[in-house]
Amino acid sequence: MYDVIVIGAGMMGSAAARHLVNMGMKTLLIGSEEPVIKDQHTGVFASHYDQARITRQLDSKADWARFSSRSIARYAEVEAAGGQTFFHPVGALMAGPQTGEGAWFIERSRAVAADQGIAHTPLDEQELAKRFPFFAFPEGVVGLYETGTGGWINPRDHVTAEIAAAKAGGADVHIGEVVSVEYLPDGVVVHCSDRKQFEGQKIVVACGPFSKAKGLLHEPIPMTVYARTIAFLEIDEAEASRLAQMPSVVYVPPDLSFDPYILPPVRYPDGKMYIKIGGDPVDVVLETVSDMKDWFRGPGNADVAAFLAEKLMGLMPNLDCKSVTFGSCATSFTPKGNPLIYAQSDQCVVLSAGNGAGAKCGDELGRLGALVASGQGIPANEYITDFKP
Ligand SMILES: Cc1cc2nc3c(=O)[nH]c(=O)nc-3n(C[C@H](O)[C@H](O)[C@H](O)COP(=O)(O)OP(=O)(O)OC[C@H]3O[C@@H](n4cnc5c(N)ncnc54)[C@H](O)[C@@H]3O)c2cc1C
Repeated sequence: MYDVIVIGAGMMGSAAARHLVNMGMKTLLIGSEEPVIKDQHTGVFASHYDQARITRQLDSKADWARFSSRSIARYAEVEAAGGQTFFHPVGALMAGPQTGEGAWFIERSRAVAADQGIAHTPLDEQELAKRFPFFAFPEGVVGLYETGTGGWINPRDHVTAEIAAAKAGGADVHIGEVVSVEYLPDGVVVHCSDRKQFEGQKIVVACGPFSKAKGLLHEPIPMTVYARTIAFLEIDEAEASRLAQMPSVVYVPPDLSFDPYILPPVRYPDGKMYIKIGGDPVDVVLETVSDMKDWFRGPGNADVAAFLAEKLMGLMPNLDCKSVTFGSCATSFTPKGNPLIYAQSDQCVVLSAGNGAGAKCGDELGRLGALVASGQGIPANEYITDFKP
């Protein structure tokens, strides 16, 4: 009989398991492995199957800056406890127009930074061009540049570190997929697709987009899952060296035509270096679990990838790009823009909805899930967000 069974070994679930064992709870983490042949996989998928996710303290939303700051402050601890590095502090740049409709982005980010004491360097148009000559931002765009704490994390390595640390702390881990949860008067029985079953006092559902699957939660959650396409622009080693000072970028273009983020050169498992850009111009909702699986199995949207690649070439006109490939992923958003971290009953805790930004702050969101599952609850003075639907 476990105190807590965490379902979903992704960014949030693996962190929740680590925090739960550190809180003295008898914990089981159940999660599925990454599919080997994606287009033939019939099971669940995750939003963290990639080599890079942007991390930064700077944010236009106060609580999201807090989630990230607290996670980043623990990266070294997680890396040491899990025996796996995952943080690459190459710097992060927030860029946007100084005036006009999009000016809110820099204004609010600057205000949050001032309020929370987030160290950064403001860059006016000239300083931006001087510091990052490989970017060609339109006239009137300024930046906030964060070093030391900004850059990117390898989400796969982050999850590996959290799981290893959870195991070292005493958590059990089962590799498998949960198909249903039986709610009994004195606990839960969790059933897996390999016919194994586990008993516990309660579950934490941290299945990313698949938290919407029937048979897990007590009640449906107001979480919308969007199809996302990411474009990868391959560069050679010489180009990667030329761009050695390139930071991760979150950008609001003056015409507000799309919502881009750009990763600096990162080496992928095929040995090649890629610059990645995301930020779909159109939101496509994945309504059902079957829609999600079909989307994850597929290659992504070729038109969106071509659009993103063209935009990136506009921002980096001298980029020596060898080829463009693309991939599919999904993000989970709530109407309030908050992560959902709350108890639906004594036996069921929700830990879901990264709102497109849950990788960098997975450790803090996992800690908050562990606080709820352990019965301590999230202290009222820590966040403005109420974490409820
Ligand atoms: C293209 C893209 C780019 C992004 N870029 C960034 C970024 O730059 N920075 C950032 O901070 N965030 C970014 N995000 C968001 C971030 O990746 C997600 O917010 C984060 O992965 C959410 O973590 P999670 O633990 O909720 O879900 P996931 O990471 O999806 O993990 C859920 C886990 O649950 C498992 N699971 C599901 N169902 C079951 C089941 N029934 N039984 C057992 N296991 C199950 C899955 O296999 C998976 O391992 C991006 C997302 C996308 C799609």
